Amino acid sequence: MTKDLVTPPSSTRRPLAPRRPLARVLAACTTVVLVIALGAVPAHADYYSGGVGTTRFTVRYGAVNDNWIGYFNTGRINWNNTSNTNISITRTTSTSVNRVITAGRYTENWYGIYSPSGTRANRSFSIRINARRLAEDSGSNMSAWCRSTSLHEFGHALSLADNPNTTRLSVMKHSRDRTRITPYAYDTAEVRRIY
Ligand SMILES: [Zn+2]
Repeated sequence: MTKDLVTPPSSTRRPLAPRRPLARVLAACTTVVLVIALGAVPAHADYYSGGVGTTRFTVRYGAVNDNWIGYFNTGRINWNNTSNTNISITRTTSTSVNRVITAGRYTENWYGIYSPSGTRANRSFSIRINARRLAEDSGSNMSAWCRSTSLHEFGHALSLADNPNTTRLSVMKHSRDRTRITPYAYDTAEVRRIY
């Protein structure tokens, strides 16, 4: 089942490519061959391009109650408290900020969804946490699941992709312990590597 989702940044939603002259196609193929020959990987598998271009940014909370403010604070502050990552996600009430986290009872199946817009250098995003689905599946751990989901979605803002290709523990895995409310060592190492 789909649990935490990201929607691709608009820059990755490309229209169908027009037919290209043979020379350009060959040039493109040559580039691919060269990259493979050199063993270079254009982008790490765990890197998510829909994140913010910096680890220091502001976020606005939607109209939610104090419980949810607490859940969002946990997700935000527990990233800020990681070592040597230079992460600073600051809460703002400025309505001119288009990086927003909110919660609601959405009809969709996901627990949380991160939707970026704009460019990486000037990133906006909308995070929505699905109180309805979390209540259905979390048993007696509703509070922890809400905090963990908030943490996970902020991970997308920090350029971490879903389900990283590693055997190590990660808050970005869908199979994770959903009561976990702090990033694992792997997660913070990835943020350091990316930024
Ligand atoms: Zn996710």
